[in-house]
This record gives sequence, structure tokens and C-alpha cells, in this order.
Amino acid sequence: MKYIIYFGLMISLILLLVACGSEDSDTSGNSDSNAYTVGVDVTYPPFEFQEDGEMKGIDIDLIHAIAEDQGFEVKIEAMDFSGIIPAMQAGELDIGMGGMSITEERKETVDFSDPYFESGLSLVIASDNTEINSIEDLEGKIIAVKNGTTGAKFAADNQGDYGYEIIQVKDSTSMFQEVANGNADALLEDYPVIMYAIATSDLELKVAGDKLNGDNYGISVLKGKNDDLLQKINDGLANLRENGKYDEIIDKYLGE
Ligand code: GLN
Repeated sequence: MKYIIYFGLMISLILLLVACGSEDSDTSGNSDSNAYTVGVDVTYPPFEFQEDGEMKGIDIDLIHAIAEDQGFEVKIEAMDFSGIIPAMQAGELDIGMGGMSITEERKETVDFSDPYFESGLSLVIASDNTEINSIEDLEGKIIAVKNGTTGAKFAADNQGDYGYEIIQVKDSTSMFQEVANGNADALLEDYPVIMYAIATSDLELKVAGDKLNGDNYGISVLKGKNDDLLQKINDGLANLRENGKYDEIIDKYLGE
């Protein structure tokens, strides 16, 4: 009799462990809550930035509004931009944002939502620089770029044609700093970001020449694994565009 009770207890214990184990494994990327974790750039105004100890910005408001519209929870994690896709691949993040441009290269590892913001690259120099008027003037100069960005890729792809040296940094603040303090002659940044930075802070920087290319930001999820989540993101985005919330968010950060 004793053995039967013992045996029964063992079976219950095993069943309990199995149940707990399987519960953990189906919450991708976070085991402690039902919220989807969203990776954003550590500092990328107007898309994400800290103010009064709070994360704010277009990306932050947009993903919260999409989540509310579609009935899910999100948890924001700020990190270096170059860490976002690797963190998704490691199962630590469910959603990647950070003013992330939709590129063919990234589409090999992530699926993108419908585009939500038009962007592209500009060349940026110190405001007192009269020597550099376009990318053609960068021969022998030093250009600062941010790791893992479309700017870094553009710089590497065109280095042979223009003959500049490249410095890689980890975030936009350090990149602006490199040009402001004279360590670099120029930098590459998304034009909405640089226009916002110039308009809202006392950065001694200006744009040189025309926009270098055009692209669009998308919200990313790990490729081929998150079709349901991607559908919700796209449905939410479409609803926000229709009910005016998308425009409200853009106006809040970019309105006069
Ligand atoms: N849009 C650029 C990219 O996708 C830059 C993003 C960023 O610096 N946060 O690479």
C-alpha cells in the first residue's frame, strides 16, 4: 500500500514538472509574463529616448498603441542598435524596432511589418565646415558610422569609390560627438533623426549635400516563426492609420 501511494506521488510530481516545462517553452523570448519584449535603440530621438526616467518616442508610442488595439502587452528593452537582431535570434526579444530600415539583407533573418515611416541617409558635418559639400569631398577624410546600421553598410559599400576612412561607434550620441570634437570629419545618419537633433538640441552639426538614398522603417519579428504576431502588428498599424492615432503620434513628436 505504501508503495502505491509513493508511486502515485512520483507520477503526480513528474506530471507537474512536465506541465511547468511546456508552459515555459511556448512563451517565446520571455518566461516571466505574457508581454512581448520589444528591442529598441538605446537612444534615437524622435523614435526612442529617455525623458524624466521614461522611454518616449514614435516607436514607443506606436508599439503601445498597436498592442492596445490588438490586445497584447509589451515590455520595452533599450539596447545598442546592433544588438537588436542578434537578441531576436537568441530568443531574448519578440519584436525589433529602433528606426529599423527594411533591407533585403535583414529580410534573410527577420520578417518586417508594412512600412511605417519614410527615411534614408544624409551626410552630416560640423556646422563650421565649408570644405565638404557632398560625399565626393570625402577623399582622405574620416567618417563616423554606427555599428550594424544602413549608414555603416553604405559607408563600407562606397569606401572604394570615395576613399575615406571609417570609424565605427555604438550609438548616435557617440557618433555626433566624434564629429563635434573633430575626431571625424563627417557622419552618416537617417535624415529624420539628424533634422530632429539639429532642431531640438544645440549640436554644432549640419547636413551636407542631398539625401544619399531612401528607405522605410518596419517593425521586425524573427523570420518565419511569428506570422500571427506579424499579422497583429500589421492589423494594428492599419487601424491606427485609419482612426487617426498614427497621425496623432507623428504630430506629437514632429508637429511644429
Ligand atoms: N535606419 C537605420 C538602420 O536601420 C538606422 C537605425 C538606427 O540607427 N537606430 O540601420
